[in-house]
Amino acid sequence: MNPIVVIGNGVASVAAVEAFRKYDKETPIIIFSDEPYHAYYRLRLSSLIGDTLNLDKLYIRKPEWYRELNIQVRLDNKVIGIDTEKKSVVLENGDTVFFSKLLIASGSSPFVPPVPGADLPGVFSIRSLDDVKRFNDYIANKNQGAVIGGGLLGLETAWALAKKGKKVQVDVTKRFIAWDTVADIDGTIKGYNIYHNKDDKDEKISTVTATEFEIPEGNL
Ligand SMILES: Cc1cc2nc3c(=O)[nH]c(=O)nc-3n(C[C@H](O)[C@H](O)[C@H](O)COP(=O)(O)OP(=O)(O)OC[C@H]3O[C@@H](n4cnc5c(N)ncnc54)[C@H](O)[C@@H]3O)c2cc1C
Repeated sequence: MNPIVVIGNGVASVAAVEAFRKYDKETPIIIFSDEPYHAYYRLRLSSLIGDTLNLDKLYIRKPEWYRELNIQVRLDNKVIGIDTEKKSVVLENGDTVFFSKLLIASGSSPFVPPVPGADLPGVFSIRSLDDVKRFNDYIANKNQGAVIGGGLLGLETAWALAKKGKKVQVDVTKRFIAWDTVADIDGTIKGYNIYHNKDDKDEKISTVTATEFEIPEGNL
């Protein structure tokens, strides 16, 4: 029987194959990932900014988990084509693999605003472990930078950089942010309460204490 093929090896893929294996322990499963690592918690990436990476702490499931469940993971193998009639996928290395069922769990990628300079060296978006590695290498001897986007991830990144002693400017528009500043009695900014919805104060999701942020006047 042809295997079940899964494109992508993120949390969605792991959850899907784990659920499937509860009912079917036999059908071969092959997961293709274009990354060189087993599935890891992407949401922990912000906390690794400026730090050394410990893969063992990041894995959603240890590599042996896949073996125990009889799941073949082919890392560094990008799927570049799907033929739904022949029921096959084509890999970047030219191989063709036939499937009985196909699951596409390929995630998404960050939206980079189409502004001049977005492709210059030193402009990063962070989605993967390799992005963090490249970013960390780049910032090692830099002291200041800007984060575009004041949502949760933007603030997490700014906070991680601020903790490393970098001077960070957060650029936001009102549309993207829902927060309150938390100020001392003398008006010194102590941090930000972040809301899903600025008009609904019951929906507070977190407080970021970020005294080192520099918020450009007029941008809030
Ligand atoms: C820094 C950061 C912080 C986050 N924090 C939070 C949070 O606090 N809370 C929250 O809910 N969410 C958070 N998220 C979002 C969350 O990580 C994603 O929603 C989640 O990872 C989506 O999982 P997924 O399995 O659908 O896709 P992904 O995790 O994106 O996995 C998809 C995988 O498929 C691979 N792939 C894509 N195309 C191909 C191809 N053609 N061939 C082979 N492989 C392919 C990709 O490289 C990737 O490895 C955060 C994300 C980031 C980047």
